[in-house]
Amino acid sequence: MLLEAIAAHAKEHPDRIAYQNQKEKLSYRQLWERAAALSVWLKKESGPVMIFGEKEIGMPISFLACLMAARPYLPVDPGQAIKRIEQIYRQSGAKTILTCGEYLAAEKLGAIFLGERYSEYHESGEISLPDNPLRDAYWLFTSGSTGTPKGVRISLAALENFVEWMLSIPAIAKCGQGITVNQSQFSFDLSVADLWPCFAAGATVWALKREEQQDLTVLYRALQQSSAVRLTCTPSFIRLCLCDEMFSQQLMPQLKTIFLCGESLPSRTVETLHERFPQLSIINAYGPTEAACAVCAVEVQERSGTLPVGEVKSAASKLLILDEDKVPLPDGTPGEIAIVGKSVGNGYVGAFQGGFGTFAGERLYCTGDKGMIRDGLLWYLGRIDRQIKYKGYRIEPGEIEAALLCWKEINAAAVLPIQKAGEVRGLAAIVEWNGKELPLSECKQRLISAIPSYMLPKRWIAVEKMPMNERGKCDFHALERMLQE
Ligand code: AMP
Repeated sequence: MLLEAIAAHAKEHPDRIAYQNQKEKLSYRQLWERAAALSVWLKKESGPVMIFGEKEIGMPISFLACLMAARPYLPVDPGQAIKRIEQIYRQSGAKTILTCGEYLAAEKLGAIFLGERYSEYHESGEISLPDNPLRDAYWLFTSGSTGTPKGVRISLAALENFVEWMLSIPAIAKCGQGITVNQSQFSFDLSVADLWPCFAAGATVWALKREEQQDLTVLYRALQQSSAVRLTCTPSFIRLCLCDEMFSQQLMPQLKTIFLCGESLPSRTVETLHERFPQLSIINAYGPTEAACAVCAVEVQERSGTLPVGEVKSAASKLLILDEDKVPLPDGTPGEIAIVGKSVGNGYVGAFQGGFGTFAGERLYCTGDKGMIRDGLLWYLGRIDRQIKYKGYRIEPGEIEAALLCWKEINAAAVLPIQKAGEVRGLAAIVEWNGKELPLSECKQRLISAIPSYMLPKRWIAVEKMPMNERGKCDFHALERMLQE
C-alpha cells in the first residue's frame, strides 16, 4: 500500500519534489530509483540497518530502500553521545551500518558511506516488493529507565495504519500535495508523521536541519522560504517560534495546518497561534513511539484549562482506560491509557516486554500515561511513572541516574524535573557524594559522553544523605519538596 503509492507517484509525477533541505532536492523518480537500487544490495543480508545522518537526502532514500528490502531501518542521530550510540549498536545487533555524512561515531563503527553509491547497485528490471506486512519497518530507540535506551519495533502494518489514519484527518487531507516542514530528527518518532504521510500523498517534505532551528532569524528565513502548508512539531518548538511576533501569517501565508504531538499543549499557546494565524487548523495529537507515532488527534480551539488530546471515534486504534488490574474503566473515570490493535508495535528489541501485551486476542500497549475518556474525547492527566517530557524529548530519569551511578565519586543520585507553572523547565540532579564533590564543569563533561545533551541537569544539589521512605526507597516526595524550597 505505502510502497505502491510511492511507486505510483514516481511513475505519474516523476519530477515532483519528494524531499528537500536547504541544499538538495530529491524528486519522486530519484527517490524511488535510488531506493530500489540500494534495496538490491540490502537484500543480500538481513536484520536491522543502522543509518547515521541528519537531514541529508540519503536518509529518506535509505529508509525506503530498507522497506523495499524488508529490513527495519534504525535512524541514528550522529550528534548523540558515542557511548549511547554504542549501546544502541550492541542492542540492535545490526550487521549493516550506513552513513549519509562524515560522522565520527559512524566511522568508529565502520559505517559504509552512502554518497552516490546507489548507482553501483543498480540492476535492471522490476523491483519485487516484499509482502509480509507484520515484518518490522523501523526501530527507534527511546530513553530507558534502567539506564540503556529501549528499541521500539514498529511493523509495516502499524506504519501503514498510521499513514492511512493521518491522511484521513480533514485538516491534513486539505494540505493535499503541498509542502510539509519537518522539524524532528529522524531518530524521533514525530518525523514519521512527516515522511510517510507526505510520500503516500505525493507531497513534499521540507526538512529543517538542527542548525536552522538554533537561531530565530535563520529559522524564520527557512520557514518563509519553505512556502509550507503544514508544520509538524512539538509544542515546545512552536513556543520557540512564537517568541517573536515575526512568526505570523505574513511569514507563512500558505500555512493551513499545524500538527502538534509529543507533550502537553497549553491552551495559551493555541490562543497565541490563532491570534497570529487566524485561519490555521491546530491539531493536538497523542501517542507513544510504541504505537506508531500517534493514535488520536483533535482540532483544538482556544479554551481555558486543559485541552483534549484526541477524538476517540476517529482514533487509529482502539483506546481504553484501564484500572490497576488491566480492567477497562467506564467513561469519566481516570486510569491508565491503553492502546489496542493495529497501531501497537511488535515490542521492544530484546526480551524486555514493558507495557506490551494482549487484550481480547489483539495487541495491547499500556502507555504509563494517566487519562480519561469524556464526551468522546481523550484527556491526558500526567504519568503513572517518573517519565518526563522536556522540550518535547522523552526522558527516563533512570537513564541519567544510571549514568551518574557509574562514577565512583557518587553514592546515590536522583534526577527530578524542575517545574514552574505546570511546565518542565529543566532537570535537577540530587547527589550524595562519596567524599568530595566534583566541579560542575567536570560533571557536565563526563555526562555528555554518556547521554544526549537535552538530558543534562541544569541544577545540581548535593545532599549529605539521600532521603528514604518507609520502604527503604529513595523518597521522591521529600526531594520534590526540597526543589520547591
Ligand atoms: P514519545 O514516545 O516520545 O512520542 O512520547 C510519548 C509520550 O509523550 C506519551 O506517552 C505521553 O506521555 C506524551 N504525549 C504524547 N502526546 C501528548 C499530548 N498531546 N499531550 C500530552 N502528552 C503527550
